[in-house]
Amino acid sequence: EELAARITASLRDIPDFPEPGVLFKDITPLIGDGALLTQTVTGLARPWHGRVDAVAGLEARGFVFGAAVAVALGVGFVPVRKAGKLPADAVGVDYALEYGTARIEAHADAVPAGARVLVVDDVLATGGTAAAACRLFEQLQAEVVGVDVVIELAALGGRERLPERAVRALLTV
Ligand code: IMP
Repeated sequence: EELAARITASLRDIPDFPEPGVLFKDITPLIGDGALLTQTVTGLARPWHGRVDAVAGLEARGFVFGAAVAVALGVGFVPVRKAGKLPADAVGVDYALEYGTARIEAHADAVPAGARVLVVDDVLATGGTAAAACRLFEQLQAEVVGVDVVIELAALGGRERLPERAVRALLTV
């Protein structure tokens, strides 16, 4: 598809970032291009008009896309943050990383029970972060209607970590 080709052309591969052996997909050229940023946000939002009550973005690059998708859909935005960053009462989920664990949090009153939440991030890699975000909103009695990402790194198996979720990527590599 044409948008996927434009996203592909914009990505910058950074070897050995943030650590040796990792090939990092840098999305800053994408978000620095006004036309492509608009097309990407429009593409992320396209299936969800009238179907979600809130958009959740995952720190930090998920904030950029998530907030823009929320505006496109006319709903509110919920930041999902790394542990200890949120000022008010928060709920959290711990999840496994390759080495060690991480914790993400949302405010306890971020969404009402029953809210339909769309989880947005830039990149789906192993799927650990997105799976934890889904559990986080289910802890708040919300319904995660989908996981929407710009880029899916298929070799890392993220989709398999999210069985029974509607996972959507604008570009799969
Ligand atoms: P996962 O939990 O392994 O799926 O990793 C996904 C998280 O790590 C997301 O929040 C991404 O922003 C980040 N991430 C992993 N790989 C990349 C990459 O190549 N480029 C940008 N972000 C990445």
